Amino acid sequence: MQLVDLSVLVENSVSEPMKIEVDRLDHHRGAKEFCGKVEARNQAKSDPRRLQVEDFPDRAFITLDTVTLPTHMGTHIDAPIHYGVESEGKPARSVDQLPLDWFYRPGVRLDLTHKQAGEFITVDDIHNALKQTQHELKPLDIVLLWTGTDRLWGKREYFSDAPGMSREATEWLVDRGIKVIGIDTYGFDRPFVTMLEDFWKTGDRTNLWPAHFYGREREYIQIERLANLDHLPPTGFQVACFPLKIKDLDASWVRAVGIVT
Ligand SMILES: [Zn+2]
Repeated sequence: MQLVDLSVLVENSVSEPMKIEVDRLDHHRGAKEFCGKVEARNQAKSDPRRLQVEDFPDRAFITLDTVTLPTHMGTHIDAPIHYGVESEGKPARSVDQLPLDWFYRPGVRLDLTHKQAGEFITVDDIHNALKQTQHELKPLDIVLLWTGTDRLWGKREYFSDAPGMSREATEWLVDRGIKVIGIDTYGFDRPFVTMLEDFWKTGDRTNLWPAHFYGREREYIQIERLANLDHLPPTGFQVACFPLKIKDLDASWVRAVGIVT
């Protein structure tokens, strides 16, 4: 069995406009603060027992990191509540409400590396790529769209130079019982700049996040910012990408893994 890491490293990067902030209560500050808290608690109870920094090996306590991290930074899944208030006429679900068994399923990798930046991935593209894999698509399979854009990871162009899913191609997969679709680009739709330019040029609002907004009609999950899809075979592997169990969130970071047996 081979485990293929399909996640990017979460760190501040020019590829993402969002930022991570980590505040670490380190070993030495932590030792002082913890002993101070114990002291205050015991004093309030007139308890003479003490805990001192010297009581820890090397005078160092254990750390505590507090993280500020947008839910859509790094490799993550988008929950239906991200797309809109409702999905399929019901209140749209958050990450903690999604069925766990959607996130551990047979995978298929579709080769879309010929798609150019700014282009739509069409129904024909999906159809042709699927044919090449000789994989027989079944409901709940996890479909991974391999565009090769992760080669730009670490560069500014990662954010602006990528193809994106069309509404029709998304619908085609959802019609076949697919619930989780992953892509190795910043966003599932075409880049922000491309969508906005096309909207301003034509006045056609369907240029704006067509795949995301399709999620208001039909419930599906997308994984954004996958990596290393070139390390996977086209078919014959499982994908594990469980979201964290955090109440009401619109998205969740995932450690996406391809399990090749
Ligand atoms: Zn997202």
